Amino acid sequence: MEYNKIQLGAILSFIFLVQNIQGWGEEGHAITCKIAQARLTEAAADAVKQLLPAYANNDLSSVCTWADRVKFSLRWTSALHFADTPPKLCNFQYARDCKDLNGVKDRCVVGAINNYTTQLLDYGKDTQHNLTQALLFLSHYMGDVHQPLHTGFTTDKGGNTIDVHWYTRKQNLHHVWDANIIETAEERFYDNNIDEYFKDIQKNITKTWSDEVADWEACSSDETTCPNVYASEGVKDACQYAYKDAPEDATLEDDYFLSRLPIISLRLAQGGVRLAATLNRIFQ
Ligand SMILES: [Zn+2]
Repeated sequence: MEYNKIQLGAILSFIFLVQNIQGWGEEGHAITCKIAQARLTEAAADAVKQLLPAYANNDLSSVCTWADRVKFSLRWTSALHFADTPPKLCNFQYARDCKDLNGVKDRCVVGAINNYTTQLLDYGKDTQHNLTQALLFLSHYMGDVHQPLHTGFTTDKGGNTIDVHWYTRKQNLHHVWDANIIETAEERFYDNNIDEYFKDIQKNITKTWSDEVADWEACSSDETTCPNVYASEGVKDACQYAYKDAPEDATLEDDYFLSRLPIISLRLAQGGVRLAATLNRIFQ
C-alpha cells in the first residue's frame, strides 16, 4: 500500500514536471479551447461533438492538454509543440525553421497545424486518419503556436534554459510564459477563478478588440488555416516582450508581470478565435 502511494506520488510529480516543459499550462490551453468552442458554427459544433471522446462530455477544453499527456507514449509528437528559430533573428521562415532536432522537415508546430487541418477535411469521408486525435492535436497546437516562447530561439530551447526568479521563486523563462503570468493574474485579479479570467478575455474580444477580430480570423483566400502568420507574430512577441529584460538570473516582478499580461491575454484570445475560425472553415 505504502509502496503504491510512493509510486503514485512519483508518477504524479513526473507528470507535473513533464507538463511544465512545454505548452501553455493546463489553464492557458483550457481558456483557448473554451473561447474557440463558444464561437463554433452549428455545423462545426456538431462535428466537434461527434469527434470528441465520450468522457469529454462535449467540453473541448477538458481535453486540450491531451497532446501534452501523450508526448512520451507518442514520442514522435514531442517536436510538434513548438517552432524555434535561430537566435535574435525575430522572424519565422517555414523552410528554414520547421524541422525537428534531426532536421526532418515539416516537424514543428506550424507543420502539425497544417497536417491535422488537412486530416480533418476528411470528416464525413472514408478516411485512414483518426479524426478524434486530429481534433485534439489541432486544438492543442493552435494554443501552443500562440505562446510566444513556443516560437523562441533554438539556442535556449524557447527560454527553457534561461533561469530567472518569478518574484521570489526560481523558474525558467519558458515556464513563466506557460503558466506563472497566468497564475499570478488569477491570484491577483480574478479571485483564483479561471472562469473569471476567461470571461474577461471574452469580453475584450467583443469590446476592446472587436475591430481586429475579423483580421485575426482571416487567412489568404485558399487557406483553411495560416499558422505561418501565427508563428511570425509569435517570434516577434518573443523578441519584443518575452526575452526583453529577462536575461539569465533576472528577477521578474511587477514591471514585467503587468506589462506582459496584456500580451498573454491577447495571444490566448487570438488562439481561441483562430481555432474556431479554422474549425468553422473545416466543417462547413
Ligand atoms: Zn504543447
